[in-house]
Amino acid sequence: MSMQLTIDFNEKYCTGCATCQIACKDKNNLNPGEFFRRVTEYEGGSYRKVGETILPDVYTYWSSDTCKHCDNPDCLAACPSCAITKNPENGIVVLHYESCTGCRRCERACPHHAIAFLSALGKAGKCDFCRDLRDQDQDPACVSACPMRVLKVQTALR
Ligand code: SF4
Ligand code: SF4
Ligand code: SF4
Repeated sequence: MSMQLTIDFNEKYCTGCATCQIACKDKNNLNPGEFFRRVTEYEGGSYRKVGETILPDVYTYWSSDTCKHCDNPDCLAACPSCAITKNPENGIVVLHYESCTGCRRCERACPHHAIAFLSALGKAGKCDFCRDLRDQDQDPACVSACPMRVLKVQTALR
C-alpha cells in the first residue's frame, strides 16, 4: 500500500467563481489559453408550461478539475524522454521541464486534458501540487484561494 495526496472537490458548494483557476494560472505564470486547473460549467433543463405561464426547470453546476495524479499515468507511459515521474512517497506525478522536448505526446495521452503546452517554453506543463508551497507545509494555491473552501488536500492509501 502507498500514500497518495489528492485534492478533493466538493461540488455541492462550488459557485463556479473560477478563483481556483485564476490562482493556479497566476502561481504558474500561464499564458492565455493555458490551464493546469479548469472550471467548467454544465447546464441543462427546459421550461414547463403551466396554464398560460412558462416556468423554468433548469439547473447549473460546475466542476473544478486538474491532474488526477493517476495510479498508472498514461502521460508517463507516453513520454519517450522519461520526463514524467510518479513520486513513490506521495503519489504526485511530476513533469520535469529539463527533460521535456516538447513533443506533446503526454498532452495527447492524458484522458483528463490535464497537460498544457507552454508556448513560452516550448514544453509541456502540468499541476505539480504546488511543490514549492508543499515544501513549506502550505496548501496548493487553488486550495488556499477557494472562497467556498470546497477544495481540500487529502491523504489516501492505495
Ligand atoms: S496528466 Fe493526465 S494521465 Fe497524467 S497523471 Fe495527470 S490526469 Fe493522469
Ligand atoms: S512533451 Fe515533454 S513530457 Fe510530454 S511526452 Fe513529450 S517529452 Fe515527454
Ligand atoms: S474557487 Fe472554489 S467555489 Fe470557486 S470555482 Fe473554484 S472550487 Fe468552485
